[in-house]
Amino acid sequence: MIEYIDNSFTYFQYLSLIDRLLAEDKTTGPDQSKNRVGFGRLNRARMKRLEKTLVLEDGDSIQGKAIMIATGVRRRHLKVAGELEFAGRGILDSGAKDKDLVRDAHVVIVGGGDAALENALVLSKNARTVTVVHRGKDFSARNEFVEAAKGRPNIIFKTMHTVRRFLGNEKLEGIELIDEIGNPSTIDVQFALIRIGVEPNTELFRGQLDLDEKNYVAVACNFVTSIPNVYAIGDVACPNVPTIATAIGSAAIAVKELKLTV
Ligand SMILES: Cc1cc2nc3c(=O)[nH]c(=O)nc-3n(C[C@H](O)[C@H](O)[C@H](O)COP(=O)(O)OP(=O)(O)OC[C@H]3O[C@@H](n4cnc5c(N)ncnc54)[C@H](O)[C@@H]3O)c2cc1C
Repeated sequence: MIEYIDNSFTYFQYLSLIDRLLAEDKTTGPDQSKNRVGFGRLNRARMKRLEKTLVLEDGDSIQGKAIMIATGVRRRHLKVAGELEFAGRGILDSGAKDKDLVRDAHVVIVGGGDAALENALVLSKNARTVTVVHRGKDFSARNEFVEAAKGRPNIIFKTMHTVRRFLGNEKLEGIELIDEIGNPSTIDVQFALIRIGVEPNTELFRGQLDLDEKNYVAVACNFVTSIPNVYAIGDVACPNVPTIATAIGSAAIAVKELKLTV
């Protein structure tokens, strides 16, 4: 029997799947239910060849013959002063969602990849200025985004600059930057969006599973990890192609393999 911890669906898909699993449980009797479906935030994992135990935040512990890890990735933080303090008070969560907020405002976007440049294009339609702060010289964003951004008169580029801290009182009012030779400067902004990539949610598995140099779970082509019957699927194991199609495809391969081995 495989214990089930879902991490690979939207919230609503998740609920409907859980409903289905719980309904199936009822057909096998209430005493089976706790053994089959676990639901909660994973707090600890013990993954060994012969023992696989997951401990949820509420202390509930689930044991199974196999584990499918799909904990995905999370946005990387700058880890500078003011970043947490001004979250929701000037530091935006999403360019697309917050595009109406920035009307006539000065905005900074931190990052040089697709997400940064795409958001610069979105926000520059409403903002007075959008300053793209990027630590490198060249952008890793696709060329069409870079060229389009260069063509917008209200998008300003500050390459070879890093953020030292976010400034303000009640709300974000400015950002202190450092250039490549260490000179500080400050720009006045009302909003900022940080898009500096993602990192995998693998802290719980470190020291137990083999991870790659960027801390993604190392998997074989059937998505099995370094421990038999522990699989990793989706973004947490596919850093190069983080898409829904990859997540579903890797899940399909892993499930097929798992049916043969468990
Ligand atoms: C803004 C945005 C737009 C995107 N647009 C597209 C698109 O148009 N097309 C496309 O193909 N892909 C798109 N993607 C990528 C796609 O969403 C991912 O590739 C896909 O969701 C990966 O699925 P996953 O199951 O691996 O991870 P996720 O969907 O990230 O799910 C991981 C889940 O694990 C949970 N989790 C993490 N740690 C724990 C824990 N300790 N305990 C319990 N749960 C935990 C997380 O809360 C999360 O719910 C987009 C991504 C983003 C951020």
